[in-house]
Amino acid sequence: MRAAKLETVPAASSRAPISRAVRRRRTLVIAGAVAALAVVSLVAGVVSAQPSASVGQATTTQTATLAPEPTATPRPSPSASPEPVVVPTFDMAARSIDDPASIWVVSNKQRPLNPVDYEPADLVEVPVAHTWSPLLRQEASDAVVAMFDAAATEAGLNLASNSAYRSYSTQVEVYDQDVAANGQAFADTSTARPGHSEHQTGLAIDIGAESGSCSLGACFGETAEGQWLVANAWRFGYLLRYPADKTEITGFSYEPWHFRYIGVDLATEMHNTGVTTLEEFFGLPAAPDYS
Ligand SMILES: [Zn+2]
Repeated sequence: MRAAKLETVPAASSRAPISRAVRRRRTLVIAGAVAALAVVSLVAGVVSAQPSASVGQATTTQTATLAPEPTATPRPSPSASPEPVVVPTFDMAARSIDDPASIWVVSNKQRPLNPVDYEPADLVEVPVAHTWSPLLRQEASDAVVAMFDAAATEAGLNLASNSAYRSYSTQVEVYDQDVAANGQAFADTSTARPGHSEHQTGLAIDIGAESGSCSLGACFGETAEGQWLVANAWRFGYLLRYPADKTEITGFSYEPWHFRYIGVDLATEMHNTGVTTLEEFFGLPAAPDYS
């Protein structure tokens, strides 16, 4: 199932020059047509006393405009080289989805981290506003900083981290607290069991508005901050990991605040193909419950 072929992100190197070439060629055609028109007008002006010739000229002009390719252009253009027709496919096996140190690791109720007490080697403090000092892996941290900066400069929105890396032992505490407060059945829809949490990978972050409005609540999805994130996170390699309409697949309730770093390549591919869960993208079974 992982062999499924999907079209990849148009690499800047492969497509941009083609469209430039095509544009250049279209410009040539248009320029040619305009030149033909000018000549025709001139001729038509000279021979205006002969109505039949004018009609003939008009027909010629139309033909020139509709010509699909500048076959009559004598000048060899550097852009005339054959266009590649092969669309590169996304390599779904480029990274491991099993290795907890891979940014593509898929962790859910059916897929515990291996080892369960995995600890990332490159955790750094994330230099952003926060309620609880955030740690993430370096790459994920850099991306969050860029994303928060963009939210501020592009939309005037101030974001903050509510929770990022949580160790196995921290997750034991968080899960036990949820069970004690809400019962295990409820806890299992909202807090991952230790060893199953994306927060333990150092690649997940719970984001809120700096104002604290709707923090860690479903209503965060309705806020300007939540809306901006869901529309733009992919540009920075982040994925809204628990969408409202995929709870049967992810096993978790809608969490508009929980974003998972998967890298720009994969996030862009998922965005372009409209696939919203890692389980579906990689052809993995749904994980509504623990084994
Ligand atoms: Zn979370």
